[in-house]
Amino acid sequence: MATINQNYQKLPGSYLFSEIARRVAAYAQAHPDQRLIRLGIGDVTRPLAPAVTRAMHQAVDEMATAEGFHGYGPEQGYAFLREVIAREDYQARGADISPEEIFVSDGAKSDCGNIGDLFDRDNVVAVCDPVYPVYVDTNAMAGRAGDYDEGLGRWNRLVYMPCVAENGFSPAIPDRPVDLIYLCFPNNPTGAVATRAQLQAWVDHANRTGAVILYDSAYEAFITDPAIPHSIFEIEGARTCAIEFRSFSKTAGFTGTRCAYTVVPKDLVRGGASLNAMWNRRQCTKFNGAPYVVQRGAAAIYTPEGREQTRQTIAYYLNNARVIREGLAGAGLTVCGGENSPYIWARTPEGMGSWAFFDRLLQQANVVTTPGAGFGPSGEGYIRLTAFGGATDTAEAVERIRRIL
Ligand code: PLP
Repeated sequence: MATINQNYQKLPGSYLFSEIARRVAAYAQAHPDQRLIRLGIGDVTRPLAPAVTRAMHQAVDEMATAEGFHGYGPEQGYAFLREVIAREDYQARGADISPEEIFVSDGAKSDCGNIGDLFDRDNVVAVCDPVYPVYVDTNAMAGRAGDYDEGLGRWNRLVYMPCVAENGFSPAIPDRPVDLIYLCFPNNPTGAVATRAQLQAWVDHANRTGAVILYDSAYEAFITDPAIPHSIFEIEGARTCAIEFRSFSKTAGFTGTRCAYTVVPKDLVRGGASLNAMWNRRQCTKFNGAPYVVQRGAAAIYTPEGREQTRQTIAYYLNNARVIREGLAGAGLTVCGGENSPYIWARTPEGMGSWAFFDRLLQQANVVTTPGAGFGPSGEGYIRLTAFGGATDTAEAVERIRRIL
């Protein structure tokens, strides 16, 4: 008889966004006359840039001809996309990354989850708290997280690095040995960014101990402060200790189009093995490449008009972020994030629990947010709002929240 991966049985009941959806659906059903504004889930709302859709239309037309038809593409991604990524996202920023170190995929979520294939079960994993739940759950599925303690809301083999107001939402280097370190900047959910000096400390630590940093920069396009690095590979020494995940989802509205990439430097070696070669082997075995049409669309982001059009969309979201940040601060809430990030992390008033504040905002302001506790124990006492809504709705949501506070 087939036996199952028992680690799945250990996963706590409901995924955060399912529970939110359940509460929102129940409320909406009971109050059909109320118009809800959703500033909860991190999906974008602005359309794809015209430069992107034009490139995709052209690619579709190519596919309709015998000469232009593309079947299975390279598992690592087409050279035209890998080359422009290496040049524009890395070399132009002084980061020494070559096209062979870039692996195009269908999403950073899959890559963040799949990267665990390269590491054995005994690795000790460090995650930020609060955290993007995918890092935690995929390690739990692989048996690296141990057992879940419902009371504490924690896995007993994970090392949690609290990111709280006291440390400026910047994790401290763990006081015990860890092997895999997940970092995400600009951070989901807190909106915090990391300075060059902070990232240098992580890189130096990883090189000293042999740990590998799994760096998620899915939100780098929102960085406006020129002093903040966009990539871990802008930091000296990162080529021997880091892997980076990037996505076109938030950069260019690709959440439904699906395209991302992972950077695995050739200098990253553990146990005598090249992680670049291992990831290549993994992708060639389990992945058949992102669609040609989609990769043509992604490459168009790097053209002058594609750049300008995506810049305008990011500016639109960043303006929403400012409206939320300033509006909530004006209403007396303590807020952070939303400056180099589409996420605003707001402290609940009067020490209210984050699910209680979520319910209050839902029921009294008809605004959907995300309770911070869903991202880990240190998220208790916070809610996350996202800047991905429409400008008018965002302003109205902030006004409604101000009124009930
Ligand atoms: N990484 C972080 C931190 C995210 O918040 C998200 C999406 O919300 C992703 C990765 C997933 O990106 P993708 O759409 O490329 O799978």
